[in-house]
Amino acid sequence: MVEPERRADGKTEHSLTVFLTGAECPFTCSFCDLWRYTIEGPTPVGALPHQLQQVLETVGGAADRIKLYNASNFFDSRAVPAADLPAIASLIARFPAVTVESHANLIGAHTLEFAGLIDGRLEVAVGLETIHPTALAQANKRLDLDRFDRAASFLLANDIDLRVFVLLGAPYVPTEESIEWTVRSVEYAVERGASLVSIIPVRDGNGELERLGALGDFIPPTLSQLENALDRCTRITRSVVTADLWDVQRLAACDDCRHQRIERLRRANFTGVVGPRVECPSCAPL
Ligand code: SF4
Ligand SMILES: [Zn+2]
Repeated sequence: MVEPERRADGKTEHSLTVFLTGAECPFTCSFCDLWRYTIEGPTPVGALPHQLQQVLETVGGAADRIKLYNASNFFDSRAVPAADLPAIASLIARFPAVTVESHANLIGAHTLEFAGLIDGRLEVAVGLETIHPTALAQANKRLDLDRFDRAASFLLANDIDLRVFVLLGAPYVPTEESIEWTVRSVEYAVERGASLVSIIPVRDGNGELERLGALGDFIPPTLSQLENALDRCTRITRSVVTADLWDVQRLAACDDCRHQRIERLRRANFTGVVGPRVECPSCAPL
């Protein structure tokens, strides 16, 4: 996937996202469905460089940034064998910036090793998810805010950029407080140095969310909530805040204005300016 992306310095980058397939993440967050894109057992040595090489041969390499997303943690050697790091670094040597994703608990020596191997500047994408105390504790993520803070400080102290994922509609957050907790979580990430924060609406369909939904502990977020959350984050200027639009068509919304609302979010992501809200005679805000 190749897409333009606004950065905190006001420049627009063209980034190439490569989805790699390897071992499943050892964490089992209640809201996550990334295990669908993984294999059983550890990633075989050589598999990721092979996949990466095939992608780069197909799409070429004219991008400002490469994102290596492996549906797990880049610094888990079961998912990304340490023996493959030099080959991966060599394949991506032409990119000025590199983004990988990792649980905060796994950021450490491997992170520094990889930062030292690549030619480009490293950014690590970390899921904060929510700072709602009950929701974070119940998410099965084995993360607390203190651990997140230490990971963020470690990255910044080593001149590595931090990108953060924040959820909209996390289980156990009361739906009437959903936008407020998302905005607070974004602000928390910005205060800890995130250069970019992406708001991700929780998507049902992984089984566990349906179970929590039946208990009344999860209500899927709506497109209108995503708009409200992003609108409230435009006052943040130190960092880029975007709405994640992957699979956004699945969010509940009015069929007559859904497309216009999504396009408005897409423009806001790209420009940092939210235009006027879409007015639609067919719907009250959903
Ligand atoms: S740590 Fe990330 S990849 Fe692993 S289960 Fe949680 S959300 Fe999914
Ligand atoms: Zn409408």
